[in-house]
Amino acid sequence: MGCPNTCAFCNQRAISHTVSAPTAEQVSGILKNAFENIPDGNTEIAFFGGSFTAIEREYMISLLEAAQPYIKCGKASGIRISTRPDKIDDEILDILKKYNVTAIELGAQSMDDEVLSANERGHSAQDVRNASELIHKNGFELGLQMMTGLYRSTAEKDRQTAFEIIGLRPDTVRIYPTVILKNTRLGELFQKGEYVPYPFEECAELCAELLELFEKNNIRVIKLGLHASETVESDMLGGYYHQAFREICEGIIFRKKIDAEIHKSGKFTVFTAPDAVSKAAGHKKCNKKYFAEKGIYIKIMPDKKITGRNIIIKKDE
Ligand code: SF4
Repeated sequence: MGCPNTCAFCNQRAISHTVSAPTAEQVSGILKNAFENIPDGNTEIAFFGGSFTAIEREYMISLLEAAQPYIKCGKASGIRISTRPDKIDDEILDILKKYNVTAIELGAQSMDDEVLSANERGHSAQDVRNASELIHKNGFELGLQMMTGLYRSTAEKDRQTAFEIIGLRPDTVRIYPTVILKNTRLGELFQKGEYVPYPFEECAELCAELLELFEKNNIRVIKLGLHASETVESDMLGGYYHQAFREICEGIIFRKKIDAEIHKSGKFTVFTAPDAVSKAAGHKKCNKKYFAEKGIYIKIMPDKKITGRNIIIKKDE
């Protein structure tokens, strides 16, 4: 709801799985059910799937009011919203603050004005810079969402977007590789052959690189790839959707790390953190297969002393 335009890639109803927006009463009911099973105050309430600050003011406030009892009794730690960069100003931030919104996520998508315009976003990169500054100045947590592989974008332009986003110092980032949906302008361009996305593997390699880049800059990547959803799967014409997209990217990071350390054929044991064993093996064990084709046979073993994506490699006798 609340979008002044329709972006070329967006069929919001397909993404948010709903055809009508919830009433404040429905939100109260959803929260009541959800919080019955949530014991502590470590949970956020989120209003996503549209441009929250662009919806009709009275309705927006009624939704925020429905969330207040859970904030006031301490069951919820705060409220997150997502919106467009050109729908943030001092007045709206005052309202959000009054209703205990703690984190604001902006759909930046690209920091390249030509890409923004080609995808009919209706805002500029400067709007993202201005809104990010205002959000920081007013003490909210800042989240930025970017897309890769948009119409008229390239891997290099996507990389530049990530660099610019890092410069805006967000607390969190979501990376959404473009999914081409039915009933969108992008879908038409794709079907006419005017939009040819770069290959899936290239997109996954790029997203793996961006994941590491953001993490090195202490920015949490809280989502990589669209949520798994039957609706998206049935409405999808092409682009980069995979239920295990993040796992694929994590696997690429491990593959490159292992590749950089093994320079000759043979059998090796790769030790890594217990929760990283399957990532190191790659999606459907693709890393093991990749190395086997080079005459390198790897066994992945957990080691409790290892954390993160660190690895220790030993040559088997
Ligand atoms: S601003 Fe967001 S919700 Fe609105 S049309 Fe664009 S992508 Fe869809």
